[in-house]
Amino acid sequence: MKRDSRKVEIQKYLKSIRVKKIKPIFWRECKKCGLEFRRENIYECIYTSLPFEHTSYSYGCTNCFHSEEYFVKWLQDNDFLYTEEKLQKWFKKLKEMGYGF
Ligand SMILES: [Zn+2]
Repeated sequence: MKRDSRKVEIQKYLKSIRVKKIKPIFWRECKKCGLEFRRENIYECIYTSLPFEHTSYSYGCTNCFHSEEYFVKWLQDNDFLYTEEKLQKWFKKLKEMGYGF
């Protein structure tokens, strides 16, 4: 058996990305418009952040984002969230520095 440990690691991060609609109890700020919301539907994106594997949260209101997919894409396009390509670059850089895979 064989496996590519970098690929496994990248998949682990990509699979950590979850989006759902929530009604927050506390004020949550939309990443795009900067307004704060509570007690109404907004999108929440949860993902494992690099490099310390903290669980991170981003929020987006339904005025700015019409779907979960669009919210994730916007986060990725604006560098708030990684893509497979960015993770590959990140791990390549780590390897060049003598760390990781
Ligand atoms: Zn917004």
